[in-house]
Amino acid sequence: MSVLKLKNTYSKRLEVFQPLDPHGQRVTMYTCGPTVYNYVHIGNFRSFLFADILRRTLERNGYEVRQVMNITDVGHMTEDHLADAGGEDKLAVAARKLGSDPFKVALHFEQAFAQDARALRLKVYQGGEAGDPALHPRATRHIPEMLHAIQKLLEQGFAYVVDSGEVYFEVGKFPEYGRLSGKVIDELEAGARVGVRDEKRDPRDFALWKVDAKHLMQWDPHSEKGWDPQDWKRYRELLPEGADKRIRAGFPGWHIECSAMSRAHLGHTIDIHTGGEDNIFPHHECEIAQSYGAYRTCVHGPHGAPDEGSQRKTFARYWVHGRFLLVNNRKMSKRDGTFFTVKDLLDPRREGRAELAAELEKLGFAGGRVPASVLRFALIANQYTQPMNFSLESLAAARAGVERIQTRYDRLREAVGDSADTSGVASDRVLELVNRAETEFDDALNDNLNTPNALAAVFKAVGELNSMELGPAEAREALRLMEAFDEVLDVLDRTERSGVVTREQAQAWLDPQTLRAKADLLKHWAEAPDREALWERIEAGQLPAFEELAPVESLDAAMIELFVAIRQNARKARDFKLADAVRDDLKRRGVNLEDTPQGFRWVRA
Ligand code: AMP
Ligand code: ZN
Repeated sequence: MSVLKLKNTYSKRLEVFQPLDPHGQRVTMYTCGPTVYNYVHIGNFRSFLFADILRRTLERNGYEVRQVMNITDVGHMTEDHLADAGGEDKLAVAARKLGSDPFKVALHFEQAFAQDARALRLKVYQGGEAGDPALHPRATRHIPEMLHAIQKLLEQGFAYVVDSGEVYFEVGKFPEYGRLSGKVIDELEAGARVGVRDEKRDPRDFALWKVDAKHLMQWDPHSEKGWDPQDWKRYRELLPEGADKRIRAGFPGWHIECSAMSRAHLGHTIDIHTGGEDNIFPHHECEIAQSYGAYRTCVHGPHGAPDEGSQRKTFARYWVHGRFLLVNNRKMSKRDGTFFTVKDLLDPRREGRAELAAELEKLGFAGGRVPASVLRFALIANQYTQPMNFSLESLAAARAGVERIQTRYDRLREAVGDSADTSGVASDRVLELVNRAETEFDDALNDNLNTPNALAAVFKAVGELNSMELGPAEAREALRLMEAFDEVLDVLDRTERSGVVTREQAQAWLDPQTLRAKADLLKHWAEAPDREALWERIEAGQLPAFEELAPVESLDAAMIELFVAIRQNARKARDFKLADAVRDDLKRRGVNLEDTPQGFRWVRA
């Protein structure tokens, strides 16, 4: 198998991937996550999805990946293109507009983001990872770690406190500043002058801690008032003497967040740090400076690099950045109607965008809605090192692609059938095809995540398989190939075609406790818009009305089982109207129910 190569922004070269782990097994990866002041747009998701493809490619290479994706809920300023951190906190602006407090705003958009992330199948939001707060650290819950880093920076002479009680990083103390972005000092000075503050020693210096009495999110390093008790305890453990007395109550700068959270959850140094191209400067440049200044973080240049074995003053060995997503070759713009959140495309009418829904309908999208798998496909279809030009037409092409793969997959499943007989042997011709296709697919991904070539390998294999008559053993091999592709692409609907729910199972499902425990496993449930309200009612012992449980068209097996259980319960309560309604609704969604001696058998039409 080929070796994985990645374009490292730090060295500006294609480098062979080699983990820091001496056993060559574990990989740590930090992905700059969303600032939760708004619904996340498809440009953000282009960046998150290329990181997801990278993570899955690492897994196909046999690595065990720990991926952390943070939530920025404080400190990301409106003038984020300047390292100076000028302007206003994006969350404060959103809170004012929405007439709410910033903590509530952040939580709302964080939950909305998690919903999108599940819909678009980010692996870090699947299974057990979804509910692990260590993998989705919030900035507001890492103030102790940030103050610790700031304190270290002060002690080591990389930072200074000004009269207002703010803290700045002194860029002149870190000669490597500019190394990642390739910016030269003159350029930096010219850029920084725009937002120059009198208190700074050098216009290039950037804020680590900000003081603003009007800001509603505040932490006083010298008093526990307003702190989360656990966080205060951790802060006192990390800094028994407390932070420098001159630092006043305030909030962290955006850059220090990622230095602190990455260290807290992945350790001192990490393998990979990802983000969009706008993160290179100032965000990641500043992260590198901070982590080195506070903790002297260094990694060795990887095997084969010109500086192999020598120290790089950065805490991540590979810095990997995705190019921007553009719409009609321009920056997305609300005014031009080219700004799309994920939610806009998944269900435009619900978001009040009837015109968009109509346009999508014209392109053949039923109900004007784009299936999440199609959006995922569209956003991964080109290589991350190329700018992506998104258009509604590109969605139509993506749909054709997904359908082609899905059709082949469904046929193969039929060909394999229910038979448990695995005795047959696939012909050499099919085995050869499968091996070659899988190698081509992996080689393309290992070549700096060349998704277009990987997809070309998929379509070539699909085309060849389409022209063959396959026996069950051959279909099984081909099915395995499709599933291997989908480990990375994750665009297939792999739901089962039929199943049986026993009467006892149906009964057990209706206990609210069980329902709650199982609900996390229900993909469609998890995507329900008012999921939180549903939870509350279940906790209060009320089973939500049947219509509320299925906000989306297609049903996965677990959801069907839930419906069957509800129907069974309705019958027991002699509510035949509801029982019939459930059966009819399932039928409308393409699922037929039969009562059998074993229980309820459901079959997709
Ligand atoms: P933010 O919510 O602004 O912190 O951004 C979250 C992530 O989305 C960052 O990694 C950005 O680099 C990335 N990003 C923002 N806009 C785009 C875009 N148009 N195309 C690709 N990535 C983007
Ligand atoms: Zn970050």
